[in-house]
Parts: sequence; structure tokens; C-alpha cells
Amino acid sequence: PAAAKVLSLNNIEVVYDHVSLAIKGVSIDVPEGGMVALLGANGAGKSTTLKSISGLLVAERGEVRRGELQFLGRNISALSPQERVKLGIAHVLEGRRVFEHLTPDENLIAASAVRSRHDMHRNKERVYSYFPRLHERRAVASGYLSGGEQQMLAIGRALMTQPKLLMLDEPSLGLAPFLVAEIFQIISRINREDGLSVLLVEQNAVAALEIVSHGYLIESGRIVMHDTAEALKRNPDIQEFYLGGT
Ligand code: ATP
Repeated sequence: PAAAKVLSLNNIEVVYDHVSLAIKGVSIDVPEGGMVALLGANGAGKSTTLKSISGLLVAERGEVRRGELQFLGRNISALSPQERVKLGIAHVLEGRRVFEHLTPDENLIAASAVRSRHDMHRNKERVYSYFPRLHERRAVASGYLSGGEQQMLAIGRALMTQPKLLMLDEPSLGLAPFLVAEIFQIISRINREDGLSVLLVEQNAVAALEIVSHGYLIESGRIVMHDTAEALKRNPDIQEFYLGGT
């Protein structure tokens, strides 16, 4: 039997300002407990796709004009971003946005979406167990953290909402390769240990295809390829345009 899906996009179209068609019929499935990458160049529509799922399009005068959006078998199109967070959708925006005047500890507490203090503390300790470096820096204003540490904090904030699906927008952006490898290994570990499903948006196809099982390639708002990570790595077009060629 086919694996249950945590997320299913069927033919999604998004327009900004009623006119500009940014994605033109995107279909993507994320299996429960799976890790899937959405790859593509600048401006292809990756961020727009994630915003259609988290509902953050509303902040940019964007709207889903057509298509179906299902999370755990439920149509979420009419839900607010807050309601989607409550259902278990976490979206780490591009550019590691954290509160720079707050410490990592305060940032995590501010991001918590659970009721009980006990659960909040347990979630925070779990974030620190994944990111020991954040624990070391927990009392420093976050503006003083390195880019890699801020990315870890942005992921940690998303984990404070106890998500079932973690969506990451270009977590590797501007980071040294060893840090990208470290953060991606931690994402893999969270996926394995917590059963958290992951949708990873990346321009860095090399790093992304190391950790996901499947990938989608988006070009000019359309999915043009969908395959296993192994097959994508061997595909000549992917090699030429996204893996630096050989
Ligand atoms: P990047 O990695 O550079 O963010 P992307 O693949 O995530 O690229 P999107 O940011 O989703 O691409 O952009 C897809 C298309 O939608 C582009 O043509 C872009 O110009 C357009 N677009 C994105 N945001 C808006 C907006 N707020 N208003 C109008 N058009 C937008």
C-alpha cells in the first residue's frame, strides 16, 4: 500500500496582486515521516510554494487561485497561518529570522506554541540536545550569534511548536560547507528520531540530495521533474545545471 501522506499539493496556482502568476500548477506529496526536497533556481517559485502551505502568502498579497492543499488528509486552504501552525505545520523562512535582542533561550520561549510550562521546557531541552551549540550560547543576545548559530535557532524556534511537518527555506544560504553538512545531519537526525516529516527547499542540490529520499525540480513555477534522490543525482540535466556538471 502507498505510504500515508502528511502533505499533498494538487495543481496549486498562486497569484500575487491578482495578476502575477508565480506558480502554475504545482503538485507535491510528502509521505508521513519522509524527507523531500524542492529544488530549483532563483525565482523558480520555491518560496511561494512553501508560503502557500503555511498560509504566509496573505502577508504579501498572494493567494492560491486554484488547486487542492491537504495536510493529514484535511483541506487546509481556508485556514489562517496560526491555525496551520496548530495543526503541525512549521515554516522556517529564508534568511534565519530571529529576535536579535533576545537570547536564544528567550527566542525559544517566545516561539513556544504549547500550553503547559512543563511541555515548553521539555521542548526547549530537546532543541538544546539537537543543537548543543545553542545551549552554550543560550544567554547571549542572538544578534551576536554566527550565521550558522542563527540558522540553528530559527530551526529550534520552529521545533518549539511541536510540528508534524518542518518546512525549511534555503537553510544553507550563506553558510560554510562544513556548517551546511552539520545542520543537514541534525535535520536528518530529527527526522529519524522524532518521525518529523521534512520539506526542504534548496538551491544547494548537492547537499539536499544527500539527506532526502525524493526530490522535485521546479522551473518557472512548474514541477519539471520528480524522482528519488539517487535517480536525480544520476540525471544528466540535474548534473549539468544543479550539481556543478562534470
Ligand atoms: P528565491 O530562492 O530567490 O526566493 P524562489 O524559487 O523561492 O526564489 P519565489 O520567491 O517563490 O521563487 O518567486 C517566484 C516568482 O514569484 C518570481 O517570479 C517572483 O518574482 C514572484 N514573486 C515572489 N514574491 C512576490 C511578491 N511578494 N509579489 C509579487 N511577485 C512575487
